[in-house]
Amino acid sequence: MLLVPGPVSTHPIVREAMNQDIAPWDRGFRALYARVLERIRLLARGVEGVHVALPLQGCGHFGLEAALRTFVPLSGKILIPMTGVYGERLARLARESRRAVVPLEVQPSRRIDAADLTRALAEDESIGHVAFVYSETGTGIVHDARALCAAARGAGRRALVDAMSAFGALPLPLDEHPEVDAVVFTPNKCLEAIAGISITVARIDRLEASEGNAESWSLDLSDLYRHLKRFGFGTSRFTPPPQVVAALSAALDLHTEEGQEGRLTRYRANMETLYDAMLGFGLTPCLERRVQGPIVLNVYAPAHPAWNLGIFVDMLRDRGMTISDFFYTREPSFRLGCIGALTPSDMARAAIAMGDVLHSMGIRLPR
Ligand SMILES: *Cc1c(COP(=O)(O)O)cnc(C)c1O
Repeated sequence: MLLVPGPVSTHPIVREAMNQDIAPWDRGFRALYARVLERIRLLARGVEGVHVALPLQGCGHFGLEAALRTFVPLSGKILIPMTGVYGERLARLARESRRAVVPLEVQPSRRIDAADLTRALAEDESIGHVAFVYSETGTGIVHDARALCAAARGAGRRALVDAMSAFGALPLPLDEHPEVDAVVFTPNKCLEAIAGISITVARIDRLEASEGNAESWSLDLSDLYRHLKRFGFGTSRFTPPPQVVAALSAALDLHTEEGQEGRLTRYRANMETLYDAMLGFGLTPCLERRVQGPIVLNVYAPAHPAWNLGIFVDMLRDRGMTISDFFYTREPSFRLGCIGALTPSDMARAAIAMGDVLHSMGIRLPR
């Protein structure tokens, strides 16, 4: 059981789909790949002829860097809310691609205020883009993506969205957000598939206007789009990981069965089960319930001399449960992923194991 915010626990059907040799240029595989991309566009509520889903080999950061390089011109400036570790990573990717970054300070325990965004945009006319993290996996806060995109639209600017730990569970209907150039995510989080590609759902008009921006061949989404238009969706410029695509296709079948809302409801119930269990142990979640998102729960480390994150992780591992052996909060904490092919009853079992481990470590807390 992977209690981490990605790569997540997968359904056996998803793992079985990978158990084959596949030639990427095989006609059957190409058709499957094209269908997967079309289903992703529909899931994003992208409009036919206006939006496309573009796959890029590698992890989520590769997709984010490609989107920044493709849609933000070299002379461009980006406003990035500093929501946590992933907001900072977005800023680093932009800076290392030599795009100017204007950071917007945000309290780690609060949602981004759309009015702050509007104000920052009004103060600097040379900012062309806003790039933000929808679900900040570092803290567990889910931001109001629709309000932030609307603020960018109101100010006549473009938006780029890191929807990595959001896509598939938290909606952002692109048919209602023409200001969004691109939404980037990986299949190994809320789509419950596996790592190996990132996917960007992007506007075709922006891709066509972005030729030459990227100063990179492998990370140029406009070059990728031109290739797919010419040779067909389902083809690749460079070798793709076909087993990852096969797994994603199976995962999309399961997603269709459950529905996006069903998935979000299950994740919320997973999170609530863990949140209540932690309170029951006398532990304190890092976020108030009203801002706690359904993706990842951070819990302050017990204020007890016997606490040791490494031992806690190892003892949980012996009980068949993997949690992160690091944390991204300022104060020591441990983090629990609430996503993947897991249910509230799995979470309840996990909570019992955590109670056992705390007990074995000699940690007893007042409730
Ligand atoms: C997982 C994640 C990423 C990408 O991580 P990779 O390790 O590059 O796949 C980026 N942003 C957020 C918010 C994430 O949760």
